[in-house]
Amino acid sequence: MRIAFLGLGIMGKPMAQNLVKAGHEVKVWNRTPGKIVGGAHGAATPKEAAKDAEIVWLCVSDTAAVEQVLFGKDGVIESLRPGAIVVDSSTILPSASVKFAERVRAKGGEFVDAPVTGSKTGAESGQLIFIVGARQETFDKLQPLFSAMGKSAVRVGENGKGLAAKLSMNLMIALTFEGFAEALVLAKKQGVNLEPLMSLISQSMVRSGVVDYKAPFVLSRDFTANFPMKLMHKDINLMLEAARQNGVKLPALETVDKVYERSRAEGQSDLDYAATLVTLEKAAGVS
Ligand code: NAP
Repeated sequence: MRIAFLGLGIMGKPMAQNLVKAGHEVKVWNRTPGKIVGGAHGAATPKEAAKDAEIVWLCVSDTAAVEQVLFGKDGVIESLRPGAIVVDSSTILPSASVKFAERVRAKGGEFVDAPVTGSKTGAESGQLIFIVGARQETFDKLQPLFSAMGKSAVRVGENGKGLAAKLSMNLMIALTFEGFAEALVLAKKQGVNLEPLMSLISQSMVRSGVVDYKAPFVLSRDFTANFPMKLMHKDINLMLEAARQNGVKLPALETVDKVYERSRAEGQSDLDYAATLVTLEKAAGVS
């Protein structure tokens, strides 16, 4: 298939690379020039990348970035072919995504929200999970591309529902990690040795995928970004905004939001969100 891939960050670059590996004809664009994907052609603008593409796939930071890439100057919409499918794997506000879908449809295209879970290692190994909001027929057409980049794709419902499900899942990730981080700080402050504690965690019902993934990084004090703190904080704000729009109260998340605010004020925005642990440690006087 002829695919335009827009946004070559931590997630987008390996996703585009896996599309090339699967034999697709890929044209890539990134806002900051200089990022390349082996075997793909480069384009100077989203408009240039999208021209002639059957599929336009996006993976950029936030709602404003998606709007800019689709509808800004030299944006996708200026050259989108009738019948082309725009797939957005960015995590953005569901209600905004539904409006973007309407604008793309008005131009004769189809739109799909397909946020992902699996982080950097999932993107690199082609093991992502796609959480999809789309018409069934459009979802079916995209199966070979989901398979090229991921281990599964689940259609949750129509436009916006993939993002709504993704935000709920990320809410669990944010709260689960902070639970782990607070547990480590409290245990350490009481003089508990972390080795037996980790052994206990891995054998008991508090074990979780989040802890399995993050523990090796945390224990080796490697806070380089797999999922940058500023992006998890962006997602927390999306969850809180979606909650406001839907009349839902999220008291635990509101508290975690304050930990992120403090961590970012301490200069940790570009580190992994696991570095919120450092803020808790500082406050408790342990490490
Ligand atoms: P990243 O490494 O920070 O990359 C962000 C990408 O967005 C870069 O290509 C950046 O371009 C582009 N961008 C930002 N603002 C833009 C704008 N105004 N116009 C055009 N392009 C813009 O982020 P990432 O980790 O790949 O995340 C991408 C999306 O996937 C986010 O929505 C994130 O929440 C989601 N996600 C991430 C993970 C993860 O573990 N990392 C997991 C699941 C979902 P430049 O190179 O020019 O800055």
